[in-house]
Amino acid sequence: MTSQKVREQFLNFFKSKEHKIVQSAPMVMKNDPTLMFANAGMNQFKEFFLGNSKAKSKRVTDTQKCLRVSGKHNDLEEVGKDTYHHTMFEMLGNWSFGDYFKKEAIHWAWELLTEVYGIDKNSLYVSVFEGSDDADNLKMDQEAFDLWKGIVPADRIIMGDKKDNFWEMGDQGPCGPCSEIHVDIRSKEEKAKISGASLVNQDHPLVVEIWNLVFMQYNRKANGSLEDLPNKHIDTGMGFERLCMVLQDVKSNYDTDVFTPLIREIETITGADYGKDQEIDIAVRVIADHVRAVAFSIADGQLPSNTGAGYVIRRILRRAIRYGFTFLDTKKPFIYRLVKVLGESMGQAFPELKQQYQLIENVIKEEEASFLSTLEQGLILLDSVIKSAKTKTIDGSKAFELYDTFGFPIDLTSLILEERGYELDVDGFEKALKAQKDRSRAASETSKEDWTVLTEDAEQEFIGYDSLEATVKLVKYRKV
Ligand code: ATP
Ligand code: MG
Ligand code: MG
Ligand code: MG
Repeated sequence: MTSQKVREQFLNFFKSKEHKIVQSAPMVMKNDPTLMFANAGMNQFKEFFLGNSKAKSKRVTDTQKCLRVSGKHNDLEEVGKDTYHHTMFEMLGNWSFGDYFKKEAIHWAWELLTEVYGIDKNSLYVSVFEGSDDADNLKMDQEAFDLWKGIVPADRIIMGDKKDNFWEMGDQGPCGPCSEIHVDIRSKEEKAKISGASLVNQDHPLVVEIWNLVFMQYNRKANGSLEDLPNKHIDTGMGFERLCMVLQDVKSNYDTDVFTPLIREIETITGADYGKDQEIDIAVRVIADHVRAVAFSIADGQLPSNTGAGYVIRRILRRAIRYGFTFLDTKKPFIYRLVKVLGESMGQAFPELKQQYQLIENVIKEEEASFLSTLEQGLILLDSVIKSAKTKTIDGSKAFELYDTFGFPIDLTSLILEERGYELDVDGFEKALKAQKDRSRAASETSKEDWTVLTEDAEQEFIGYDSLEATVKLVKYRKV
């Protein structure tokens, strides 16, 4: 089943259950001071759950573009190393705003997975909230347990603690227990070798969580206590790429048609041979993953920049560029060439990618050229720092020099050090960064003319885009 079909069937299934199909909200959040990027399908419906506004439709479904690279959900370090955490991914979801509750949510999830998608029932596990003996003193979610017991054998129902099976939006507000659905994608032969308790192994890398059904039934008050919500809500989220992996009968999200066109193109451009060498494979996966995050952000109007969300995007792109440079020997811009392939496979579901294809390509290409021009020298410096280091901790002021002169984001320096068995003195870096900010603040009090738009003959140093509008590209330069 193609990924396009997987997405369509999800939405159509819930449409047949009287849900309204809505658009993904932008991945880049412009109106929420608490969140830079959408990290779950429910973000755009927050106000309904909080009771601040009323939903027009009580049942909705969509696929939401998510990015998990900062804050509570930060999966960046996993990406590429494992085969099922991405920076940018799609979260399929269905919602009930004060309408249906656990019974329908559980039955429909099961019906969709086993009858519509035809997933083998014997490969599925579910989890139920076990209760807590802390201040909340919550009982186990008996209602969900009983509902599941009518569907799956009791030994496939796993009890989970607060960390995995109780969802809260924040310190206050709607919250409740959840049930997760996991798929065991180990081969028959592999399963035959194991038995009993070890069969139910949620920590195994081939037993993958695909869907989370959240039952919002409490409200956490300002004093920390819980009260029953007058209206109970359903909020579900299923990882689209993981679902495609299961349905396309492969063991890695990167072997689905969501990623293979990108991987083939990386192979063609760089000559890399995916699937033969672990370091190369990680690099290929990182690049295939990161180009999606960057392209979708630019399509949503967020260009790489030196601050806020723009800097997050710049960091992701620079990380991908360095993986290419070090492991695939790419010395020239090439990531921008993947945008076309991405547009071909995702453009139908997300037209914004196709509409802004040229801009996305140009921005990525310039960003690559700019970083590549200093990357090699930076790596040479870092190498000499490592060679002369007397301990396994590297001085933060060196990381600052790399950041300031060579454009190395701090997490990139940390990553490279980690690869070489060293760690970074992060406090030292922060101190140097603060000292620089203080200096430039003092300087700007005397000189207000720090910024200027490019003129023909002035000597310039390119320092990045400074525009929030994807359609307006304003390139800023600093006098040097
Ligand atoms: P995990 O335990 O695998 O990190 P999670 O519990 O953090 O997942 P949820 O917040 O419950 O994930 O999100 C709902 C669904 O979104 C998950 O069941 C999973 O299928 C998918 N998902 C979560 N994080 C990622 C990611 N980084 N990349 C791809 N899919 C993801
Ligand atoms: Mg997670
Ligand atoms: Mg989880
Ligand atoms: Mg989960």
